[in-house]
Amino acid sequence: MSQDLYFFADGKAEGNAAMKDVLGGKGAGLAEMTNAGIPVPPGFTISTRVCLDFFGEGGKVPDRVAQAQKQYLGRLEEMMGKRLGDPEDPLLVSVRSGAKFSMPGMMDTILNLGLSDRSVEGLARKTGNSRFAWDCYRRFLSMFGNVVLEIPKRRFEEELERVKDERGVTLDLELDEDALRAVVEASKQVIRDATGKDFPQDPYRQLDMSRDAVFRSWHNPRAVFYRKQNKIPDDLGTAVNVQAMVFGNMGDTSATGVGFTRNPATGEHEFYGEYLPNAQGEDVVAGIRTPKPIAELGKEMPEVYKQLRDITGRLEKHYKDVQDFEFTVENGKLFLLQTRTGKRTGAAAVRIAVDMAQEGLIDRKTAVMRVPPGDLDQLLHPRVDPKNKPEVLATGLPASPGAAVGRAVFTADHALEWAERGEAVVLIRAETNPDDIHGMDAAKGILTATGGMTSHAAVVARGMGKPCVAGCSAFRVSEADRKARVGDRTVAEGDWVTLDGTSGEVMLGQAGLQEPTVGGEFATFMSWADEFRRLGVRANADVPRDARKAVEFGAEGIGLCRTEHMFFGEDRIKRVREMILSAPEYRRAQREVETARREMEKAGASGQEAAASRLREAEARFAGPKAAFTGSLDALRALQREDFLGVFKAMGERPVTIRTLDPPLHEFLPKREELMVEIAVGEATGTPSAALEEKRALLARVEALHEFNPMLGHRGCRLGITFPEITAMQVRAILEAACEIQRGGGVVHPEIMIPLVGSETELANQRKVVEETAAATMDEAKVKVEYLIGTMIEVPRAALTANEIARAAQFFSFGTNDLTQMTFGFSRDDVAHFLPQYLEMGILKQDPFVSLDRTGVGDLVRIAVERGRKTNPKIKIGICGEHGGDPDSVFFCHRLGFDYVSCSPFRVPIARLAAAQAALSEAEETVAAATA
Ligand code: PEP
Ligand code: MG
Repeated sequence: MSQDLYFFADGKAEGNAAMKDVLGGKGAGLAEMTNAGIPVPPGFTISTRVCLDFFGEGGKVPDRVAQAQKQYLGRLEEMMGKRLGDPEDPLLVSVRSGAKFSMPGMMDTILNLGLSDRSVEGLARKTGNSRFAWDCYRRFLSMFGNVVLEIPKRRFEEELERVKDERGVTLDLELDEDALRAVVEASKQVIRDATGKDFPQDPYRQLDMSRDAVFRSWHNPRAVFYRKQNKIPDDLGTAVNVQAMVFGNMGDTSATGVGFTRNPATGEHEFYGEYLPNAQGEDVVAGIRTPKPIAELGKEMPEVYKQLRDITGRLEKHYKDVQDFEFTVENGKLFLLQTRTGKRTGAAAVRIAVDMAQEGLIDRKTAVMRVPPGDLDQLLHPRVDPKNKPEVLATGLPASPGAAVGRAVFTADHALEWAERGEAVVLIRAETNPDDIHGMDAAKGILTATGGMTSHAAVVARGMGKPCVAGCSAFRVSEADRKARVGDRTVAEGDWVTLDGTSGEVMLGQAGLQEPTVGGEFATFMSWADEFRRLGVRANADVPRDARKAVEFGAEGIGLCRTEHMFFGEDRIKRVREMILSAPEYRRAQREVETARREMEKAGASGQEAAASRLREAEARFAGPKAAFTGSLDALRALQREDFLGVFKAMGERPVTIRTLDPPLHEFLPKREELMVEIAVGEATGTPSAALEEKRALLARVEALHEFNPMLGHRGCRLGITFPEITAMQVRAILEAACEIQRGGGVVHPEIMIPLVGSETELANQRKVVEETAAATMDEAKVKVEYLIGTMIEVPRAALTANEIARAAQFFSFGTNDLTQMTFGFSRDDVAHFLPQYLEMGILKQDPFVSLDRTGVGDLVRIAVERGRKTNPKIKIGICGEHGGDPDSVFFCHRLGFDYVSCSPFRVPIARLAAAQAALSEAEETVAAATA
């Protein structure tokens, strides 16, 4: 017959890991850890069957269980050498729920059970800390009152607030023993008022009542709702775990700490952690006292240290991953409170994955799957240049790697305010708490004066991938004065500081920063990822410098070269403006010539002379605008040819997709309002009229080009169609550069891409210009270059008519920035006005400009791929919108059988890894489906 209760203690449990049905998940875990020789605090599990009996008997445990519980509690008391709630040296226990399936936070938990008016004094004596004992007691009263007696939590909180007000303090921490005694009295009164009875001082009664309350919590509305949502049956019941509480603040032979089996910041294979002697768990994470490095424990308590290393080493082998553990030493006896997979920085994740594969602990596939692609971002952060490094002011703990340079601010609100003004800031705090998140997010880096590697600041900064120096105790921070004293120096708000989160150094001044290098384990790791991926990864790069960076990060080509970005250089913008401003006049005069020519053709013999004369006049009027327009085009062609030469050289034989001009032309002109101001000022100050006239003419042109909705206006292929000379100029520049390289023995693969196409006819028009210009250029150069012509798919109509468009295209590249804009009807430039609220209200789950909206935009992409391939099965398919570097979107592109994704150079490694993981997870699913 199965048991009702199961003991676990000292290396031996009556249950085991397989008994989740009976022991619940938590109980089975405690049994497993105990059997594996891990010293978890002892206790016993009351089985799920008892829970069912409890409900079966109308909310009462059967007598046999009450008997067994007495016996098990006796065993526990004997084992711990203390009696539950003993006034001299009380055993205290926790009472926790634990169902077969995890239902986080849905059911109830009670801590410090066994405290009473008498035993609280015992705990105070044993810990030598009355404040602590009374704080435990008041917490127990509110937990018991709420969970067991069903009194609203708010009632206890009100009493706590009242006492705080009376004492004139704002933080719980500021309440002294006397104040806490007052809170205890008030809490007992709350219980008396609500139930008409006194709080039960008898610990055994407390235990029975708590056990029953935890059973009842199986049917609380939260738990019922959670089960419905997660399809967990209602008739399983929960187990109850009764476990001894252990205390690290019992004197000099007690301690508490946290640790990792490997360094979570760097990944180094070293035992890593920190502890505080004679302290309780909260002291370590609260960041109030700066803890000691764990190596010190080796000196202070060598036996405990050895045991801890041994156990955690075994845990790592067992779970085949880094373990993050919490421990407490009570009077020289070690207890592990918790162990779980350790969170780590991106750099550590890579190093650990590579090391563990090389140690034979995991295989390469597992190693590749272990690193979240987005975490690689942190590795690609800049470092302090040793040659340009200001004086080191102080050193703290290297809590989160990377270097940050910014101006000092001392509150989260100021960090945000300054950052919104475009300033780089470093947030300096005594310690951080969750209220500081917005400032941490706005800052380039974070410094705290107290707190360890696991303090709030450290954990949050690592998560954000931001540099952080914690526990920099030389800093005396005064938030009110907006400054910090460091020895005899002062750091005031606005002073420049540099943080090195890798070494822990803090510098006064602006360091030079070095770009990250990508060798060592990173290179090894990425080469493993590349073995598994099917998707190609390219970069969006416009200039040779970015192209070289892209190659360094492993890009296999350029997926988008936005030619217009080359137009903004100082030497170019003048030429670009000339081109734009001369274009309308050029076109008008050209039309006059064409009309005059047609009229001459039609004119009879008698009218010939007059027609010829009109043609000559028209040609004469055309000469000026033609010279201006073609002159600026020629100048731009020469400049662009040099740019393309640079990009081709950087990319070698890799394909380079070059997009023809895309943005509306007025983006290159001075702003209308600025010109108006300049003219008004000129008029008021007597600027010579010739100069003013020029400005007025410019303003007139700018106004003529003004569009109400430029993003949907005269841009993309519409420019190339109305001014084929511009497309021809760019194609000529591309092919002249390509021919020059090929003539020198190199090979290039240009891919010419037409933007914003919405119909086959638009693409056909531009394709003709490209083909004719390319043929002429190659003829002149007597060189043949293999090139492709394709289009962006970024207009919804293009996606829907992809079968037609594919007939004129050799490749499609999804411009998901515009496609998202036009599918949602959200202006890319204005979305910030409402998107934050949309996200907050849950109207959108994520920013669709960051991660591809699979249901809407994604469906258009799927349709376009299917239809495009139907008419052109060989069509090459890629993506060059921002989504090309977003891991989730990369997964999506993999599933649709894309040929490549293209993203900014810094995101190339992320895309490579995401592509590998997409391929690996697909393979896993295939295996699972085949064996199912
Ligand atoms: C796009 O629209 O996704 C794209 C890549 O083009 P751009 O961002 O230059 O409009
Ligand atoms: Mg676009």
